[in-house]
Parts: sequence; structure tokens; C-alpha cells
Amino acid sequence: MPVSGLPPYDDGNIFARILRGELPAKTIHEDEWAVAFHDIAPQAPVHVLVIPRGRYVSLADFAGKASEAEIAGFWRAVAKVARDLGLEQPGYRTLSNMGENAGQEVPHFHVHLFGGRPLGRMLSPAEG
Ligand code: 5GP
Repeated sequence: MPVSGLPPYDDGNIFARILRGELPAKTIHEDEWAVAFHDIAPQAPVHVLVIPRGRYVSLADFAGKASEAEIAGFWRAVAKVARDLGLEQPGYRTLSNMGENAGQEVPHFHVHLFGGRPLGRMLSPAEG
């Protein structure tokens, strides 16, 4: 059942194709629940994407439909990747775009992991 208001999952999206091995990716972590790889257009010295293996459009879809084991496994993988990359000190940022206002481009839930430099403000100054 789709979560209310969300588009159905598109099996042709780029991250689904990476998961199926149809497109290459610079993968740095894989486990039962999650895969992590470098973003193709990095916006920081470290810019990694962590995605669940399951077919979820966005955080809302993931939170609504994933099992507790998937949710725990996924978020533990995000933190492990950051730790393994040596980002815990002096710190890093996670971000997930959900839907149109956030500019989500790829309709497979993912968390961006940024690090390697001071990351500045959370958002650019408000435009109203
Ligand atoms: P979103 O805007 O959906 O939160 O982020 C999508 C991210 O996916 C962007 O940062 C973009 O650079 C990245 N991306 C898009 N296509 C590819 C690809 O084919 N490979 C990889 N590794 N990253 C991609």
C-alpha cells in the first residue's frame, strides 16, 4: 500500500539501478540493510549517499513501511559509515531531502553524509 500522498516506487530510478548492479558506483559499505557510495557530484570533501536496500521513495515512505529491523539496520549503517570514514571528530552532517520543496531528485530514500570541512549554516539565508 502506498503511504498517503507519496508516488509509487519507480524501479527505474538511478539508485534502484545501482542496487541491481546495472550502474556503477564507488561503493564503500554494503550490508544486509544498506549500501553506501560516493555521490557523483560531491558538495563537500566527503559526500556519501547511504540508501536502504528496500524499495522506499523517501523518508516518509521508509518510516511508514519499513520494519524495525530495517530502520535500525539502516541508521546503524549511516553512523558506521561516518565512523569508518573518520568523520566523528570534528563532525559531520546528515541530510535527507523529502519531496518537491526539498528538491529531492532521486525517488529512492537516501541520506547524504557530508564531512571533511566546516559545513557552515544548515540552510542558506531565508528568502521569505
Ligand atoms: P537528492 O537531491 O535526491 O537528495 O540527491 C540526489 C543525489 O544523487 C545528488 O547529490 C546527486 O549528485 C546524486 N546522484 C545522482 N545521480 C547519481 C549517480 O548516478 N551516481 C551517484 N553516485 N550519485 C548520483
